[in-house]
Amino acid sequence: MFIEQRNQHFPPPSAQTARESSNPGAGKRDDNLASLANATIMMVDDEPITMEVVQTFLEDAGYERFQLIEDSRIAFDKILEERPDILLLDLMMPHVSGFEILEKIRTHPHIKHLPVIMLTSSSEAETKLQALDKGATDFLAKPVDPSELALRVRNTLAAKAYQDQLAYYDPLTNLPNRRLFLDRLEWSMQQADRQNSHLAVLHVALNQFKRVYDNFGPRVSDQVIKQAAIRIQNCVRSSDLVGHDSTGESDRYMLYRLGANEFSVLCTQLQQTESSAKVAARILEAMQSSFDAEVTEVLMPASIGIAGYPGDAHDIESLTQKAVIACAQAEEKGGSGFEFYSSQMNINSLQRIHMEANLRHAVENNELLLYYQPKVNIKSGLIVGVEALIRWRKPDGEMVFPDQFIPLAEESGLIIPLGEWVLKTACAQLALWQAQGNWISVAVNLSAKQFYAGNLVESVSRVINESSIDPSYLTLELTESLFMDDTTLAVGTLGGLMGLGSKISMDDFGTGYSSLGYLKSFPLNELKIDRSFLTGLNASRQDQALVSAIVYLAHEFDLKVVAEGVEDAAQLKFLTGIGCDQYQGYLFSKPVPVAEIDPMLASQGIQRRV
Ligand code: C2E
Ligand code: CA
Ligand code: CA
Repeated sequence: MFIEQRNQHFPPPSAQTARESSNPGAGKRDDNLASLANATIMMVDDEPITMEVVQTFLEDAGYERFQLIEDSRIAFDKILEERPDILLLDLMMPHVSGFEILEKIRTHPHIKHLPVIMLTSSSEAETKLQALDKGATDFLAKPVDPSELALRVRNTLAAKAYQDQLAYYDPLTNLPNRRLFLDRLEWSMQQADRQNSHLAVLHVALNQFKRVYDNFGPRVSDQVIKQAAIRIQNCVRSSDLVGHDSTGESDRYMLYRLGANEFSVLCTQLQQTESSAKVAARILEAMQSSFDAEVTEVLMPASIGIAGYPGDAHDIESLTQKAVIACAQAEEKGGSGFEFYSSQMNINSLQRIHMEANLRHAVENNELLLYYQPKVNIKSGLIVGVEALIRWRKPDGEMVFPDQFIPLAEESGLIIPLGEWVLKTACAQLALWQAQGNWISVAVNLSAKQFYAGNLVESVSRVINESSIDPSYLTLELTESLFMDDTTLAVGTLGGLMGLGSKISMDDFGTGYSSLGYLKSFPLNELKIDRSFLTGLNASRQDQALVSAIVYLAHEFDLKVVAEGVEDAAQLKFLTGIGCDQYQGYLFSKPVPVAEIDPMLASQGIQRRV
């Protein structure tokens, strides 16, 4: 049996957080005793009761993270996977003995230095000697004395923290070193595989280092390196690089010192390698100004090479090598600059930089516009609402669709002003329709970035007041996946939005986590079945069953159901049959400018206020 994190005070941290608590995988300094409490303590013992007693003693001593393993056969794999900071290992166990596990640990390159305290009920001197001989760090006799236990664990952890500090950190800058970088890189690659995400290695070289060293000597160059490390660290830490998640994943970007004038930034959990260009650009900028060394001012521009996993390489060695090669290319092009290893990525990243600059002007230059797509009541066949969909008309007349610029706007933060513009414009249109006696609803899409920005409720409230609309005709569409990022926060914000009188719709339903059970935890008015279900509707009985089930369930929860992407009469017929409320799609109309919506509304007569 494997029991993870039995402790009640803390939510179970992921393998990553557990690992990051204190072992070298962490990249954090943990050399003070206070932080030892964060250490992950693993116990392997065939008697659960012993482990529980030991855990209680250690909890009293302030420790919080425990992993208990009862089955000695899975112990070794768990140790490798979880990498605890210390192991309390029972000697006598069925199947696999403590000695056997210890022997395997001491011969494994990744965990051979793991501190192991052997728990033994035999007090024979010979067994103890044998344990020490096999590499046990310390041993304890059962039954365990609480104060002796706490002391031994503390001393062992303190010794380990000190050794880690020597082994894994650079004394000049206090940054984690190459060894830790490689360890962490390997782990991050596995994580990327599991999560289907990307990672990037930014190799940062300070080109003028040798010249400075030769001219001014080690003291000055040490000072410069120290200051440079701080500047780079500040770029890496900047919070706006990290996504909207509020889970405190501040270590998605980590800085290491690899050599005299070489640093590396490991960027994890990226959607694409190109996203790391932003950190690179920031570092380059930070390195532009001169450094104050005691006798002089020194310039130390950087070159950066970027290689991505899994795009560019499949193992640590070639990945790091490719980042170095890319860095050399950047240097060849003449000093301060960054290069991706793959030429396609260089092109993509350039395009993105251009697009971001253009998008910035799009808001000011009135290049954005809203199209509206009718939402039709299935029973009456009348338009009861519209969804506002953004378009970007470039000065040359080219029309850009949101899929091409919304992700970029989210990444760059531009989505905030852009989203505000959309909301204001849509509400102004809604006010106009209401003044004309057209009581249709208007739906606006909100991105996750806006949702988690912190002031959404206030800004929506302001727009509602300024446009003097009846807010019950405003629907805010939020994609399903956003709900799951931070459910507590989501529930709070949704409640706030609903409190303004507006309606909430869960967009793209079915594409995210799709556990129907959580529908009841969110304040909601409407569910939009994702287009992908509609595509298969005519051919797939499973899709039919799914859509029927969603409609049925949503009605049980008093939610209106809208089917999006309805393209043909057969789909509509099916939806009619199962009692779906509204539909939206090319069958009725594509998204069109207001000028084309108005005649549609006029021809169906006035839609009364309800
Ligand atoms: P969405 O919210 O799921 O919007 C529906 C998309 O499906 C629209 O694409 C619409 O043109 C398209 N569509 C509608 N009916 C059909 C159909 O019958 N068949 C097919 N194949 N497609 C149909 P569009 O306008 O390109 O928007 C794409 C996405 O961009 C939207 O997906 C939404 O997530 C996002 N978006 C659009 N406007 C905004 C905005 O103002 N703010 C934010 N944050 N996101 C927006
Ligand atoms: Ca939508
Ligand atoms: Ca949708």
